[in-house]
Amino acid sequence: MAGKVTMRKPVIIAIDDDAQVLAAVERDLRGRYGAQYRVMRSVSGMAALDALRGLKKRNDSVSLLLVDQRMPGMTGVEFLGQSMEIYPNAKRVLLTAYADTEAAIRAINDARIHHYLLKPWDPPEGHLYPVVDDLLEEWQASFRPPFEGVRVLGHRWSPGSFAVRDFLARNQVPYRWLDVETADIDGEVRQLVRAVGPEPSQLPMVLFPEGSPLSAPSLAQLAERLGLRVRADEAFYDLVIIGGGPAGLAAAVYGASEGLKTVMVEREAPGGQAGMSSRIENYLGFPSGLSGGDLARRAVAQARRFGVEILAPQEARAVRIEGPSRMVKLSDGSELGCKVLLLATGVSYRKLGVPGAERLQGCGVYYGSALTEAMAAQDEDVYIVGGANSAGQAAMYFSKYARRVVMLVRGESLSASMSQYLIDQIKQTPNIMVETRTWVSELHGEARLEAISTHCGNTGQTEKVPANSLFVFIGAEPNTDWLSAVVERDERGFILTGNDLMRDGKRPQGWPLDRDPYLPETSVPGIFAVGDVRHGSVKRVASGVGEGSIAVQFIHQYLSAV
Ligand SMILES: Cc1cc2nc3c(=O)[nH]c(=O)nc-3n(C[C@H](O)[C@H](O)[C@H](O)COP(=O)(O)OP(=O)(O)OC[C@H]3O[C@@H](n4cnc5c(N)ncnc54)[C@H](O)[C@@H]3O)c2cc1C
Repeated sequence: MAGKVTMRKPVIIAIDDDAQVLAAVERDLRGRYGAQYRVMRSVSGMAALDALRGLKKRNDSVSLLLVDQRMPGMTGVEFLGQSMEIYPNAKRVLLTAYADTEAAIRAINDARIHHYLLKPWDPPEGHLYPVVDDLLEEWQASFRPPFEGVRVLGHRWSPGSFAVRDFLARNQVPYRWLDVETADIDGEVRQLVRAVGPEPSQLPMVLFPEGSPLSAPSLAQLAERLGLRVRADEAFYDLVIIGGGPAGLAAAVYGASEGLKTVMVEREAPGGQAGMSSRIENYLGFPSGLSGGDLARRAVAQARRFGVEILAPQEARAVRIEGPSRMVKLSDGSELGCKVLLLATGVSYRKLGVPGAERLQGCGVYYGSALTEAMAAQDEDVYIVGGANSAGQAAMYFSKYARRVVMLVRGESLSASMSQYLIDQIKQTPNIMVETRTWVSELHGEARLEAISTHCGNTGQTEKVPANSLFVFIGAEPNTDWLSAVVERDERGFILTGNDLMRDGKRPQGWPLDRDPYLPETSVPGIFAVGDVRHGSVKRVASGVGEGSIAVQFIHQYLSAV
């Protein structure tokens, strides 16, 4: 996967249009510095500027530029002047003939040249190496090795940038975020923008340590480039699991560890809703809590160790029954067959249905805790809509970064919807304000969220306040319409299983077996449902894990009879 690369050597570039001189400089530099530095060469200033831009895109370090003054097209001084926009910290050395020394001296100020060398420099031990040794030593003293992973260049207020960052974070890919709008205060961003010269349509741009950058990539393109797996090895499995949240992951670990050939299909990133949780405090065995990201990472490692194939991002779009086989159609058009299908698709956040909400999603309005945004909200006011545990956890998390966190809660108090431990923590956190009987009525801003209108049920007043970020936690719904013709669901779309399918002691319509559906089994034998998507489930990590684990027991029973 990208991100794991060995430290690359800093670069020295020699530039001269005279092939013989260039070969000689290169030879001398490589002979002495080749072990520690990568020595490159260019035949013109333009070609060297191109090379510098390419190096910047890959985040390589450039230590020294050694350039001949007299070249057609662009002089050495001109080149060095322009190089400063991309690599201001590289040491700049000009090669001059005796006749040009005055020009070189004058250029020391303009192009801020660190040294000029007279041709010929033979022997190098006498004229070249002492100068270059000294300059490289100076460069090394202030050199900080660059970040050697994925970098994302984009606008903070762009939904595309947000989607890319959220995807990388949830897939546990370390990355550095570079906001183009900080170019005037952040040298790294400024130099990169100059090197890349991105058009607005090319943002967000994802830059990798190796190879060319991706401009405004789709998540599928990004996944492919990162080496994430989206295609299954086989066409047929014992067990196909749809959904990689806690319930799906637990079933995957138990199923594969008990010998079932298992594949898990996840449309975003393994971890599900739990992966978005900043701190789960009530999961057994972790007295000081653990982040959802950590839980997901460990569970994925465990599942892989037992041989589970994890396809992500890959969405299940349709299911059909073919005799004893259950067939799943995936978003890339391929189909997976299996003996048993387990639905663990959880729930997704309900959207805020007020004017402006749709337009501003991803540019100030976020669903789920969007942990990636916390650092960006440093010293700002953050608004949170909702009064249940997920909203409380997010408030606690953001309170560490934001100046003030304002919770907008529709109910009379938090106690009806939130665990007492969280209510206590919120009370003890001075920069969290809770506004009860208050709801959002409108969101304002064109390209990004600029203000929100809130309505207070107590005073009947509507107030418009400036706001950069609003995080929404107003409940969730199962997205199971694509399964409506396959399994029985309740009126809200949750999937019915086991006893909930029995009406007046009768089995569901079309049920072909002379036994009742098993506890987690749906109205179709061999299709099971676990976790939040199941009608009547307890919406918790531990219960999802429990359901996923026990479902495997029933799957074995089902398989032993087919
Ligand atoms: C912010 C937050 C904080 C929380 N904190 C806690 C807590 O502290 N303690 C606690 O016990 N619980 C907590 N919960 C609740 C808990 O996370 C959920 O109950 C749990 O994640 C449910 O697990 P699940 O596997 O059933 O579903 P989910 O976690 O919802 O996972 C379902 C997965 O299925 C995928 N999927 C859906 N449809 C498809 C499809 N068609 N194809 C492929 N993949 C699909 C989704 O992308 C998702 O990854 C929290 C939830 C949130 C959002």
